[in-house]
Amino acid sequence: MSLPRIAVSGVRRQWHGAARTGVNAAYVDSVTAAGGLPIILPPGIPPEHAMHALEGVDGVLLSGGEDVDPMWYCADPAPQLGDVDPARDRFEFALFTAARQRGVPVLGICRGLQLVNVAMGGVLWQDLPSERPSTVQHDARQPRDARTHDVQLVAGSRTADALGGRELAVNSFHHQGVRTLAAGLVATAHAPDDLVEAFEATEGAWLLAVQWHPEEMHADPLAPDRALFIALVEAAREAYCR
Ligand code: MN
Repeated sequence: MSLPRIAVSGVRRQWHGAARTGVNAAYVDSVTAAGGLPIILPPGIPPEHAMHALEGVDGVLLSGGEDVDPMWYCADPAPQLGDVDPARDRFEFALFTAARQRGVPVLGICRGLQLVNVAMGGVLWQDLPSERPSTVQHDARQPRDARTHDVQLVAGSRTADALGGRELAVNSFHHQGVRTLAAGLVATAHAPDDLVEAFEATEGAWLLAVQWHPEEMHADPLAPDRALFIALVEAAREAYCR
């Protein structure tokens, strides 16, 4: 059979004097290393085309990036809210909804985790340092693959099974986080300050999201994080062959 095709949500940015779309190559490398075929779906695709965008797609990876506009969870912008991309929000909410309707497996990373939580009815902290002070440094100014805080994994979860243990040190660079976890989701990893660092869906198609950045570990063949992409590709393969 063909390789499972994994749609990776992209970004739209200014660089070298032009507006361009793409995604951090670490996502592409991680999906490829896990045996999937990455396809970038950039912001700018009209949300009404989200269902069409899933044609021929076996799995979805919602990538990191801008803050989710707090209007999506009925909150006013906090002073420390970061950049938002309204077009990206509109497309990714539609893409996620379409994926759930079609039973397509979804892996959320950082912003992707936050977007899934909001899409299912949850609420976010808009800025952890000012709204939820903690001794845990979630936005470490370190190399992108530096493991800066631990997470405790919930035994028996897909997250723990994939990562193969009860504890993992993770690379963490996020200033938002889960404030209220949506119904239909169960937390499967927590930071030492109890912040949700991973969750899964309690029913329906395969859905797993992490607050850290497993894609940045693609260069380390022994990194446990790589198993998250393998789990996505396997779930995509099963959905494809169903
Ligand atoms: Mn963190």
